[in-house]
Amino acid sequence: MKPFPTTKRVQTNLLRWFKKNKRDLPWRRTRDPYAIWVSEVMLQQTQVATVIPYYEKFLKTFPTVRSLAGANLSKVLKVWEGLGYYSRAKNLLQASRIIANHLKGKIPENLKDLLGLPGVGRYTAGAILSIAFNREVPILDGNVKRVLSRLFAISGHPKKTEEYLWSLSESLIPKGSPGAFNQALMDLGSMICTPKNPNCLSCPLKNLCKGYLSGKPESYPLRSVNKKVPHIEAIAAVIQKDGKVLIHQRPPHGLLGGLWEFPNWRIERKKDLKEYLRQMVKRQIGLIVKCKEPLGSFKQTYSHFKLTLHVYHCQIVDGIGNGKWIPIKKLKLFPMSKITRRISEKLLH
Ligand code: SF4
Repeated sequence: MKPFPTTKRVQTNLLRWFKKNKRDLPWRRTRDPYAIWVSEVMLQQTQVATVIPYYEKFLKTFPTVRSLAGANLSKVLKVWEGLGYYSRAKNLLQASRIIANHLKGKIPENLKDLLGLPGVGRYTAGAILSIAFNREVPILDGNVKRVLSRLFAISGHPKKTEEYLWSLSESLIPKGSPGAFNQALMDLGSMICTPKNPNCLSCPLKNLCKGYLSGKPESYPLRSVNKKVPHIEAIAAVIQKDGKVLIHQRPPHGLLGGLWEFPNWRIERKKDLKEYLRQMVKRQIGLIVKCKEPLGSFKQTYSHFKLTLHVYHCQIVDGIGNGKWIPIKKLKLFPMSKITRRISEKLLH
């Protein structure tokens, strides 16, 4: 794509603004590609303030790509616990093993090899290459999409304009400062060009911005219609014996893969929940139980659905059962989703 007449001014104004206003973030105090990669993965779908303590703990526990590659999944998930989107942690671990075992422990410095790693998409690869290796490679995340759509008044459907926005992002990168420029775009999107009420009067690009000059910057980019999120109900059993409780580990792949939880099942029909739970425990765990008083109903929102989990204490009548029996006090040592952690905490108190 040919540069726009305003390209040079966009670059100069944005870099000057970034120099004065950039956020002081822990991953900006290093050029270590591993640390930058970890931060970029954590920042996908998660706010900066939430990420900071997790980033620090993760780097303290796994300071190098080789130390991560040598860790087991449970330990990585435990450090990640609470950050959500656990497939990110599993992909990081898998990718670190590929780097340690096949790439001499070095994070690739080219787009093709980076994109071959699990969990590394075009955005993450662009961020690593531009920030850690100073390569002129573009980025495009939600913030950058919004800034560019407004700057150039692009109003097509986000899916249709995606490729065009990538080429725009690439065409704007100034020679010699790709990392600073890409980070400046991200910061402008999160600090000034916010989804609602952009602070155009403080924006270094206002005189160049077609969205601002049109008087309706918020009408860019076109918003996709929010789909209704389904609500799922499930039932869980807290089965205790001699100070121990029964937990199961989820299969390694799929939603919350590798995390531990109390045995639970989706409710298809809301009829006699205790009887349904008793039957499921018998059929799938091999235990005859009496379902007693409820421990509570717990709610959690995931990216594609909302969950309400009804939890009951169950008393064993007969059988051995399959799963892992652990002392209740040791529940905190096992990686769990937020909702299961809340149930465990209620049990502990
Ligand atoms: S002028 Fe306003 S709409 Fe345009 S880039 Fe700046 S903050 Fe965003």
